[in-house]
Amino acid sequence: MTHEKTCLQCHAAITGRSDKRFCTDQCRYLHNNLIKQQSQGERRIQQVNAALRKNRSILRQFSPLGKTTVSRQHLELAGFDFRFLTQVYRTQRGNTYHLCYDYGYLLLPDEKVLIVNWQPYMDERS
Ligand SMILES: [Zn+2]
Repeated sequence: MTHEKTCLQCHAAITGRSDKRFCTDQCRYLHNNLIKQQSQGERRIQQVNAALRKNRSILRQFSPLGKTTVSRQHLELAGFDFRFLTQVYRTQRGNTYHLCYDYGYLLLPDEKVLIVNWQPYMDERS
């Protein structure tokens, strides 16, 4: 009975010690790097998702029904991070709404921010 083990990276047959998982050091290195890269990517996705959710919940707290003007500083003090958004919507008049899922905002003069609700037309491509 032959039970042939294969390399986790390149699937070549492995000879030698039965606990070997890779055919060469290079394959072990490649495999471990790939795993590391994947988990770094997943971690980054979780970080960004958490930042977006936080932004969204802050906008919701300040303006459950939308159309509320607040100061930029209030949002920042609550932990809002202006770098994270899900979507950009530009109106015909040239205003740019930044969205975090179903809430968004428009920057106004004097460090003010108008909080708005996402609207279906914001998904239409112009
Ligand atoms: Zn290999």
